[in-house]
Parts: sequence; structure tokens; C-alpha cells
Amino acid sequence: MATADIGLIGLAVMGSNLALNIAEKGYTVAVHNRSPGRIDEFVSEAKAQGLDGNTIPKYDLADFVQSVKAPRSIIIMVKAGKPVDDMIEQLLPHLEPGDAIIECGNSLYTDTQRRFDYLKPKNIGYLGVGVSGGEEEGARHGPSIMVGGSKEQWHNAEAVLTAIAAQFNGESCCAYLGEGGAGHFVKMIHNGIEYGDMQMIAEVYGVMRDGLGMTASECGDVFKKWNEGPLNSYLIEITGHVLHAVDADTKKPLVDLILDKAGQKGTGVWSAIVAQQMGVPATAIEGAVAARSISSRKAERVAAEGIYGRPNRVRSDVTLDDLEKALLAGKIVSYAQGFAVIAKASEEFGWSLPLATIAKIWRAGCIIRSRFLDQMASAYSKGDASNLLIVPDFVAIMKDAHPSLRKVVAGAAMGEFPMVCLSAALSYFDSYRQAQGTANLIQGQRDFFGAHGFEIEGRGGDLHGTWPSTLQNKAAAPVVEE
Ligand code: NDP
Repeated sequence: MATADIGLIGLAVMGSNLALNIAEKGYTVAVHNRSPGRIDEFVSEAKAQGLDGNTIPKYDLADFVQSVKAPRSIIIMVKAGKPVDDMIEQLLPHLEPGDAIIECGNSLYTDTQRRFDYLKPKNIGYLGVGVSGGEEEGARHGPSIMVGGSKEQWHNAEAVLTAIAAQFNGESCCAYLGEGGAGHFVKMIHNGIEYGDMQMIAEVYGVMRDGLGMTASECGDVFKKWNEGPLNSYLIEITGHVLHAVDADTKKPLVDLILDKAGQKGTGVWSAIVAQQMGVPATAIEGAVAARSISSRKAERVAAEGIYGRPNRVRSDVTLDDLEKALLAGKIVSYAQGFAVIAKASEEFGWSLPLATIAKIWRAGCIIRSRFLDQMASAYSKGDASNLLIVPDFVAIMKDAHPSLRKVVAGAAMGEFPMVCLSAALSYFDSYRQAQGTANLIQGQRDFFGAHGFEIEGRGGDLHGTWPSTLQNKAAAPVVEE
């Protein structure tokens, strides 16, 4: 008999924590996993947490589907990529029109769109859902949930998903954002922004450590203090904890022992690629991805330092106040870029992505949760803006903070500190806020070698210059004078 409110397949760390979260909120969840061992483990865990009454373990897929009330909502939380397609094919023969598959892994939004398009004619709903917050705090106790896909079927699962999400001031951090791959697109950009936040924090830490000569614990104290101000956020908070951690064996600061090679799983790269493809600059995300890639080339860096010598890290004259404001200014630029990518995708894919709602559902549960996002949510609620940098509330903060960003980046350049992300943020800001740029010269060069044409105000576009023929690219179209 069908008694479960919802089904969930994939009982690795994320899936089992989500299922326990669902059970805890009073919903009955049927669970299944390819390998039966994980079902056994889940059963013991559910019992240990007193939640077994709300869980229905099923070892057979057909039985599992039948145990869920129709129209069915079935979450799949398996490894991203081909396993998701395999799982869809295995489920299909057991589903009925009107049922829905809710895929909650880290899928590429184009895969989600493809699966949505594939299932639509079969009258099977497909929801691609971004889940952020990590396995323990997030999946188990309340993640941020970004929903995209079949709107009709979303309403069938809305009560459960809204209940298991993090709450901020009584509002659920779960929202339906748009059709097809919208949910996974927004999750991807969330992760890109997360890369930027982390890299900018690391760059500021570098100045504290090598420019101001601070110990890890002293740096940790500063992050702890900053967490009480405008930078208040989960990432600033955990940075303080990481910097205060001590290695049990050596009694040294743990952070000083950790190898300076950052890993990455791909969502940052995806974000940077999509931004480039859509013609929206996201230099903070690109910088953060590049910085992780450079970090991973440890042997090359060691060899290069042997050639150029140790960086001449003169004691920096920047203050901790400068660093705090620089981080705030860099963050505003990075979020401006990330939201501009989301706005462009909304336009390009016809998603009508609600920027204020996105800022709202990121206020709790997810890795980039912060006080700043609450300010962003209310700023965006007041009206649509194409770029956060021109939203009045943020103009005031930026006017106050950008001189510090400038001072920190300038000091870093002279003090031989890498600042891939913060310098990218500053350059973006300086490019964005200048009425007269230098692309006039680029247009002249393009016309010189390729007859690409240029525009002169009052005289129209597609004009050409008269260039010395000896230097022209012979393969290009002949030069045409105005
Ligand atoms: P994994 O990504 O490690 O995937 C393991 C699960 O996938 C197991 O249940 C496994 O079943 C199942 N699986 C793998 N291949 C197949 C297949 N061909 N057919 C059926 N089932 C298969 O699990 P996680 O819990 O770490 O993550 C799940 C998803 O959530 C991923 O997309 C991940 O990127 C995403 N995510 C993870 C976060 C995290 O902090 N870990 C945070 C946010 C999202 P079996 O037991 O039989 O091997």
C-alpha cells in the first residue's frame, strides 16, 4: 500500500541525511539504494535517531515506487552524471503520468534541461534541485534549496521541500526559481560565488600572515571580530575556526601544516565558462578558479621561486580596517558579477529568475550565507537593477570601501603578494564605473587588420579608417573608406 509522502533513492551521505531530515519534519519517506548495504546502514541510523517510524526502507525498486503516494515525488540523490540518467531509465517503467523525479545532486544545468525536455512528452515531471549547505549542517538540519523544472509537480513536493530547508526569520530558504535547468544553474553560480568569497578571504589572510607578520591564531581573532560586522557570514566564521585549530601531534597551528594546494570539483569552472559564453564578465569567479589551479601546481611554483627568489614581502602599511573594507568591496563586486550572470541567463533562457528571492534563499542553510545577502535581498526587492554596483544601498557601501580595496591591491602589487581575485574585482569596478574606456583603440586595431569597422558618434557605425596598405593583413577584406 502506498503510504509514503515522498520517495528518495541514493543513501550515501547526502541522501541519507536528507531522508532523515524529511522524517524528522513528520513526513513519511520511502528509501532505496542500489547497494542494499546502504539501506541496512540507513535503517540502523534512522532507528538510532528515533526516526524509523517515518521511514520505509525498500530493497526492490518496483516496491519502492509503489510505496509512494501518487502523484509521486521521487528524489534521486546519486552521483552526478551518467548514474542520474541510468536511474531515470530504471525508474521510468514504474512511474505513471503526473509523477515527478526530483534530482538533487550537483548536476550541470544543461543535463538537467535535457532530462526535463526528455521527460516532458512522457508527462513525467522533472525537477532539478540545487542543494547547498554540506552534508551534516545542510542536508540533515536545513539546506538552501534552489528548485527548477516542472512547476506543476513542484507543488506536489513543495510542502516537504519547504519544511526541510533552512529557515531565516521564519521564511523557508527553498524556492521555485524557474523552468528546466534554472535550479541547477542558480546552484552553479552559488558555487562560483563561493569560490570567489573563499579566494578573497585567502588573499587577505596572505597579507595578514606575510605582510603584517601575524600568527594563525592572531588572524583567527581578526576573522572572529569581523564576523560581528558587515562581513558576518558562515565562511568568515569558519575561517576563524580553521585559523584557531591546533594540530594534536605537533601542537602547531593546523593551517600552517596544511599543504597549499586547493582542490576543486568543477562547479566553479562551469560558472566561469557559462559567464564567458554569455558575455557577462565574472572576473572574481574566474580569478578564484585560476588561483586554485595555480595552487595545485606546487612543484612548478617551488621551481619558479628557485629561479626568481623568495617574494620580497616588505611589511605592509595596510591596516586591518583596510583589509576588512577591501574584502567587503571585493565581495560586492563578486556578487554583482554573479547576479549579473543569473540575470543574463534568465533573459537568455526565459526563466524570469527572481533575484530578490535568490538572495533570500541564500541567507541561511548554504555555504555563502551571510548578513550581506539579507541586505541584497531587500535592495533587490526595491526594484530590478542590472548590476548590484548601481543599487543605491550598495553604492554607499562601495563608495566608502573601494579606496581600501585600491590601497590593498596596490600594496599587494608592490609587496609581491598575489591577489588574483581582489585585483580582478578592482579592475572590474574601475572598468565598470568609467564612462570613457580604451576600447576605441581596440576597434581601431580590429579595423586595421580585419576591416571589422567602428562607430563614430553622430556619423554612424560600420565605418572604416584609411590604413597604410603595407601593414594590413592581406587575408582580410579590403579596406573600405567611410
Ligand atoms: P556520491 O556522489 O558519492 O554518490 C553515491 C551514491 O550514488 C550512492 O548512493 C551510490 O549507490 C549512488 N550511485 C552511484 N552510481 C550509481 C548508479 N549507476 N546507479 C544507481 N546509484 C548509483 O554521494 P553524495 O551523497 O556525496 O552526493 C550525492 C549528490 O549530491 C552528488 O551529485 C553530489 O555532487 C551532491 N552534493 C553533495 C554534497 C556533499 O557535501 N557531499 C553537497 C551538495 C551536493 P551505491 O551505494 O550503490 O554505490
